[in-house]
Amino acid sequence: MGKLNVTILRYLSKEDFRVLTAIEMGMKNHELVPGALAAVIANLRHGGVHKILRDLCKNRLLSYERGKHYDGYRLTNAGYDYLALKTLSSRGSVYSFGNQIGVGKESNIYIVANEDGTEYCLKLHRLGRICFRNLKEKRDYHAHRHKASWLYLSRISATKEYAYMTALYNRGFPVPKPIDVNRHCVVMDLVQGQPMSRVYQLEESVVEKLYDELMDLIVKLANHGVIHGDFNEFNIMITEEGKPIVIDFPQMVSTNHINAKMFFERDVTCIKDFFRRRFAYESELFPTFDDIEREDSLDVEVSASGFTRQMDKDLLEGMGIDEASDDIDDSDVQNEDNGESVEKLPDNFDLSSEALPDHIDKYLEGLKLENEKSAVENSN
Ligand code: ADP
Ligand code: MG
Repeated sequence: MGKLNVTILRYLSKEDFRVLTAIEMGMKNHELVPGALAAVIANLRHGGVHKILRDLCKNRLLSYERGKHYDGYRLTNAGYDYLALKTLSSRGSVYSFGNQIGVGKESNIYIVANEDGTEYCLKLHRLGRICFRNLKEKRDYHAHRHKASWLYLSRISATKEYAYMTALYNRGFPVPKPIDVNRHCVVMDLVQGQPMSRVYQLEESVVEKLYDELMDLIVKLANHGVIHGDFNEFNIMITEEGKPIVIDFPQMVSTNHINAKMFFERDVTCIKDFFRRRFAYESELFPTFDDIEREDSLDVEVSASGFTRQMDKDLLEGMGIDEASDDIDDSDVQNEDNGESVEKLPDNFDLSSEALPDHIDKYLEGLKLENEKSAVENSN
């Protein structure tokens, strides 16, 4: 297995970057992007796209694969990370990389900092990679091919998280302050504390207060039209002052969801069970779905802000959560498959040809392990 060449990454040229972006654009409607299509999209005056494609593969930002009908290129995790980090760093939200603080089921979490040294939390969403191969077996695979792609799912997962975090934060909910989003990456405030899963000792009065606070939060969310859907000790951070901060929103559902009552009760049960197990605390008091007094529709606001109901439906399906609340007419969905007009990069496309800050290179170097792993998986 080849190694990631960090030196070349640092000096990725304007043309390299253009070709990498061209593959990303091509992947909107191709699982594998043929070299010829990449050349058309990249629209490079002097050609040379094929050599650049080869170099990007050597650096594992792209991979070349043989498909059933044609061969072509696709972005690797590192390639997609590169594009997002380049954008976030050009906007000044991410300047340096710190430690990885979490590997969730569907994300990697890092401490990052901006140029001033202010620390943030960076969450890279990674969806669809694992179930992608299983999906291939399904008969409706072709119909849902684009919807199910890891690129699309990871991006809409981050988009949703950022949109909900923003709406919740603006209403004074205890969530991290959202800072920036690009592609599959969300930058947010770093919570000074630890997940509730690591809290073992609390005074009895504090236990009761925390329990009440969390139950109130579940109801308050529902009053605003949403259910967290994964309200457990790993997604509740406890600050140094003992205040709960809720994280992890991609699976949130509307209180209009067909299974809303079930999701609501599951969140409540999670808290009840945890408090019984961990603190031997049981209370007669817990909220029910009938306690909801609708005062606001966060989900409607979020869909108006660009995270559409169709995206939500695709995301929830991609995560294996049942179909969304109501049927969405599929004719609404833009058919991206019409390959007639190929979108080309404009001549003046130049997101940034500057070198990445050193720290980000170090991060990308760390990714090589992960890439090698996924390369092995893909070749199976
Ligand atoms: P996943 O969807 O993979 O579960 P989470 O958003 O729940 O991802 O994050 C995984 C872990 O990363 C959390 O359990 C927590 O320990 C840590 N984490 C996530 N966001 C933050 C944050 N804003 N501040 C501090 N730690 C965080
Ligand atoms: Mg989580």
